Amino acid sequence: ALVMAPGPATARSTPTYLDPAASTSKRVSDLLKRMTVEEKVGQTAQPAVVNIQGECEWSGGELNQACMKHVLADQHVGSILSGGGETPPQNKPSAWAEMVNTIQKYSIDNNRLHIPILYGVDAVHGHNNVLGATKFPHQTGVGATWDPAVSEAMGQSTAKAVKATGPNWDFAPVQDVARDTRWGRYYETYSEDPHLSGAMGSAFVKGMQQSRQVAATVKHFAAYSAPLNGHDRTASQLDLRYLQDTFFPSYKAAVDAGAQTVMVNSGAINGIPAHASKYLLTDVLRRQWGFKGVVISDWNDVQSLQTAYKIAGTYADAAGIAMNAGVDVAMLPPDTVDGYIDGMLAQVKSGKVSRSRLDDAVARVLTLKFQLGLFEHPYVDPSKADAAVLGADKDLAVKAATESMTLLKNDGNALPLSTGLGKVVVAGPAGDSVPWQDGGWTIGWQGIPDNVTDPGVTIYQGVKKLLGDGKVELAKTADEAVDKTKDADAAIVAVGEKPGAEGVNDSEAPELSADQQDLVERLQATGKKVIVVVVASRPLVLGKAADAKQLVMAWLPGSEAGTAVADVLFGRANPSGRLPVSWPKTIGDQPMFYQQLPGTNSGPSSSYDPLFPFGYGLSYTTFGVRGLSLGSSSVSSHGTVKVTVQVSNTGGRDGDMVVPVYASQPVSRILAPARRLATFTRVSLKAGETRSVTVSFPMSNLAVTPGDINGAGTPVAQPGAYQISAGDKTADLTVR
Ligand code: BGC
Repeated sequence: ALVMAPGPATARSTPTYLDPAASTSKRVSDLLKRMTVEEKVGQTAQPAVVNIQGECEWSGGELNQACMKHVLADQHVGSILSGGGETPPQNKPSAWAEMVNTIQKYSIDNNRLHIPILYGVDAVHGHNNVLGATKFPHQTGVGATWDPAVSEAMGQSTAKAVKATGPNWDFAPVQDVARDTRWGRYYETYSEDPHLSGAMGSAFVKGMQQSRQVAATVKHFAAYSAPLNGHDRTASQLDLRYLQDTFFPSYKAAVDAGAQTVMVNSGAINGIPAHASKYLLTDVLRRQWGFKGVVISDWNDVQSLQTAYKIAGTYADAAGIAMNAGVDVAMLPPDTVDGYIDGMLAQVKSGKVSRSRLDDAVARVLTLKFQLGLFEHPYVDPSKADAAVLGADKDLAVKAATESMTLLKNDGNALPLSTGLGKVVVAGPAGDSVPWQDGGWTIGWQGIPDNVTDPGVTIYQGVKKLLGDGKVELAKTADEAVDKTKDADAAIVAVGEKPGAEGVNDSEAPELSADQQDLVERLQATGKKVIVVVVASRPLVLGKAADAKQLVMAWLPGSEAGTAVADVLFGRANPSGRLPVSWPKTIGDQPMFYQQLPGTNSGPSSSYDPLFPFGYGLSYTTFGVRGLSLGSSSVSSHGTVKVTVQVSNTGGRDGDMVVPVYASQPVSRILAPARRLATFTRVSLKAGETRSVTVSFPMSNLAVTPGDINGAGTPVAQPGAYQISAGDKTADLTVR
């Protein structure tokens, strides 16, 4: 028998696993030796038990004791989650902290070995399920900042807020690369570009895990963002080369940054559900990338192998398949806990899941608990939670939202607007709406519910704050907007789409609704200055609104949106966002991304014809790149390239310049994208300032998979001639 009979710890000697001075690996192996197989299986289960319509509901400050007993004491469950919409009644920080403490205490008091629980949440743009917590921009907006430092600061701030309320595991960042605007979760990605996405996500992971109190989650491994038909959680067909070269690097960057956990894609790839893919979860993630942390399933996706995919006849078989593929923890709807646990136990007892595989999974979970310090410090102080969370780090939220604002059109330089204007109208459905600017995953999973008010600065409020009360008028209907604009100096019309997540915002036609297009058209017909601000989860096809003379993409900017929009429109901030994704012209333009393969038409990127390309964005000043030189004109496939450029602010205002460095290959034996982002930086330049900037990138950023039509093989930068470019300057590079 591999499992030793557990004996009670003697009163006199502290067991090694409770000794903070012992190494984590010693503590883990000591604890593992003391555990029964039932206790071990419990550590691989993560049910949602709180505040859902189930027996475990938390109400009136009490947890249902029978339920707690069942889940935590009898089934030995090792972790809990509050998913997207499942939060304590008042959603207040202190209420959260009390709830998590109560569950934690129950668990510690009622399991034989006093193992603390992990508690997971979806804090994907700040601690977004908590009323009064500051809501940051969603990830695509963060991608538009091209500022890893801001992403890192957001990770840090989010961890602080999450920990203050009790949880210690955050299901962020999303490292899926954007491919298709039909997919309703597009806005949860950073970018269509693997490198930009990887850079932003790895910075977030570092920030989040810096205090060693909250674990980040790289999700959804792999290629969740590429469902064939644009619908969430449907099948993907991706050749291996595309999978390796385009999707893997973004996850890998975040794994390399030290992410402690990885969540699996709910979909199937090339005919194999990701949760059953030993190739993805073991061969790639564990063996090739050396990932040592915890792999968690997505919601109910172990059982899905039985109920949805039907590759297993029973829940038990599904549990075995997932565990053997490499899933360590199953995220579970509460009514499926028994099915999972009984099933997994049966698999272990029959030998279908080996004891060593179970031990491996449990060791990873326990390691995480030790790393997070939970055995020493399982509780948080509820009396400190409100102060730590309510309205915290608003300046950071303003900064992130401001840096994300992407100016797409500014005909006749009508922007910035003068603060001396007499009358400004704010119109459009997103003009005075915290729910719209916060998007999905805010208080509720599909966005702030109608009956809930969460604080935030709307665009109307932001403009009012800046100009003064008397000058700004809110128009609630289209007719009112047109009417009021006729004798106004300018109209700001905020259009976009309603919040949504998973499935709900999937769309066959991700375009601005006809009534909003009409509103923009009618406002433009007044002949007044009309600034169109798009508050949306993706680059919507604009239709008639594409004729706007002033156009700003605000993404989903979060609770402080109004301050950021007003600062940018009135010139207190110089817009510096650059598109992290391509903006399609028409609905038929999917999938739309700049990394097109050279084709048989007229030019290398002939199939790429967006309304605005990847990397696009205007400023109130002008920038130039004056020189570009390489550290060496020749490098090995595994070497690093140093690039120096002289960047100048050639205009009259201070501003931030994003400097992307691209690589292309005039001739490549292996079909490779015509242009690829190799690295980038963001530089603040005073009006008239010139500065020399040096960045470097490993050639592995330009790796492609050789091989035949099956795409098998290891990605590596191909030898040959390359062109490295920044702005309109290029230099030649030979790769040996
Ligand atoms: C989503 C994940 C999320 C999980 C927990 C799932 O449905 O796909 O992104 O982390 O729910 O709420």
